[in-house]
Amino acid sequence: MNNIIDKLNNLDHINLSLCMQCISCTNGCPFVHIMEHPPHQIIRFLQLGFMDKALSSNTPWICVGCNTCSYNCPMAIDISLIFDVIKEHVIKNKLPIPEPSIFEFHKQVLNSIKKYGRVHKLEVMFNFKLKSKDLFSDITIGLKMFLKKKLHLRPPNFDSIKQLKEIFESIKYEK
Ligand code: SF4
Ligand code: SF4
Repeated sequence: MNNIIDKLNNLDHINLSLCMQCISCTNGCPFVHIMEHPPHQIIRFLQLGFMDKALSSNTPWICVGCNTCSYNCPMAIDISLIFDVIKEHVIKNKLPIPEPSIFEFHKQVLNSIKKYGRVHKLEVMFNFKLKSKDLFSDITIGLKMFLKKKLHLRPPNFDSIKQLKEIFESIKYEK
């Protein structure tokens, strides 16, 4: 489990020992109200070696990577990058994923980019709802988006799809 700390310590803009628990990151986070632990607490777990707590929290999965926390951090710690490393570790080690539906949504977005080069939002939503076995719960908002031309029937155009597929192959991306 310590290899996650080694990985974090080898990244630029991450020095866990610099965190002084000032809570500026948490104060600026727009999604803290639905996180099991506020961002500064995850940093504290890592500092103290409470890996199970950091790896099982839903916080990194709720994070949208807006970087408001990092801009607020007086020590310039890249908190969303720390959360990416935690998620990568959980997936690679096949640990329980605290928010499986969010992970599934990310996979659908990546599948769409791999297929079209850009996100085909309508297909992403359809596939996500199909996988969740919950086709109709957001139908009203979906219809509103469609009528406002926020969702399109046709996939977006992208010229460099061959090169993009090579990138996905190079990282051995699996659906
Ligand atoms: S990057 Fe994540 S943790 Fe930081 S403010 Fe945005 S949502 Fe919150
Ligand atoms: S803002 Fe930076 S120093 Fe303050 S608690 Fe968050 S990570 Fe630690």
